[in-house]
Amino acid sequence: MDHFQYADGRLHAEAVPLSTIAEAVGTPFYCYSTATLERHFRAFETAFADMAPTICFAVKSNSNIAVLRFLAGLGAGADVVSGGETTRALAAGVPADRIVYSGVGKTAEEVAAALKAGIWQINLESEPELETVARVAQSLGVTATVGIRINPDVDANTHAKISTGKAENKFGIDWMRTREVYARAASMPNIHIVGLALHIGSQLLDLEPYRAAYSRMGQLVETLRADGQTVERLDLGGGLGIGYGPNPSQTPADYAEVVRTALAGLDCELTLEPGRAIAGNAGVLVTKVIYIKEGATRKFAIVDAAMNDLMRPALYDAHHDIVPVAEAAADAHLFDMDVVGPICETGDTFATNRPLPEIKAGDLLALRTAGAYGAVMASMYNARALPPEVLVKDDTFHVVRQRIGVDDMLARESVPDWLTEP
Ligand SMILES: *Cc1c(COP(=O)(O)O)cnc(C)c1O
Repeated sequence: MDHFQYADGRLHAEAVPLSTIAEAVGTPFYCYSTATLERHFRAFETAFADMAPTICFAVKSNSNIAVLRFLAGLGAGADVVSGGETTRALAAGVPADRIVYSGVGKTAEEVAAALKAGIWQINLESEPELETVARVAQSLGVTATVGIRINPDVDANTHAKISTGKAENKFGIDWMRTREVYARAASMPNIHIVGLALHIGSQLLDLEPYRAAYSRMGQLVETLRADGQTVERLDLGGGLGIGYGPNPSQTPADYAEVVRTALAGLDCELTLEPGRAIAGNAGVLVTKVIYIKEGATRKFAIVDAAMNDLMRPALYDAHHDIVPVAEAAADAHLFDMDVVGPICETGDTFATNRPLPEIKAGDLLALRTAGAYGAVMASMYNARALPPEVLVKDDTFHVVRQRIGVDDMLARESVPDWLTEP
């Protein structure tokens, strides 16, 4: 359920027609709905109410500071995976003591910035990283609160490029080494080890991998406690999958039941790191049709958004529902169309043989479920602009990121003197 619905024949974001925003900011643009963000955040809160977890929104799924500020206002923390994301979360007003920092390649500089800001927890992903965090903490004269991200070696049964919990993936510390690493961390003066973390992948539509990973985590807690270690916190990662059209999604309530079964009774504080499940359905990418082209065997709608704006179809063969902003008649004839962008790559295709009502040049289309891993992955390939982002609340909208165009790019480039001389 989201708040992008037709009213008076036009697709709206809450009470704002998307065509009105298109007139104001041009196309393509991302549009996010605060009511949808809130609905999804509350769904997690409600489903997990008895376990009272800290819900740290995964900033990498949508890092716009207005989105982060809105979620922080609901009580969300932030899960960050880089120094840049730490800066964004802090700039958005997420309290430092609700920020958890994961990532396989944290540099000493990033760790230092996180420690200076007083962030809540750093999840360690390797033994050398433990040494780095300890060294940086010592040099700053502070104690670093850390968790150990384990690699539980379970198959998340998702797209290979977003699977992160198998032994061959680069993430986390092999679960069989947990005892040694935990003991080493516990012995270090500038390290305060609080527990375990895991994140097995993204867009999980099957709950079995969670069950396997969390029961392994539960067993490890018991083993560590038998060793005399203190284990107070468990960070359960994110990854809950959503419907992109053809596939049904899992609900936070079903997910909560898996967590309850596997980990209740351990008396640990829980952290959740959902990204996609909160932001995915809360955004659309609106684009304008430039041309309709009749190919030899296909009919193409060439639109002004491209793979640089929304990379998921090119990167993961992902499906996004595409709907016209002007509502089609219920009995409208459907034509199989390829919806493609203008970039010089065949991969710049949003949909192939997609049944769509008749559309013509100048029409607006909305690519649904674009609120997560959309704008954050945009690039300036083909010297295209980064699309603007718009946040809607009820009947108002605000441009929360302006278009960043070729002039902004050129302002950062220069030609050396020896090339400008005649
Ligand atoms: C990407 C990521 C998440 C969020 O994943 P979603 O699929 O968006 O829920 C959570 N935690 C970590 C460590 C991540 O890398």
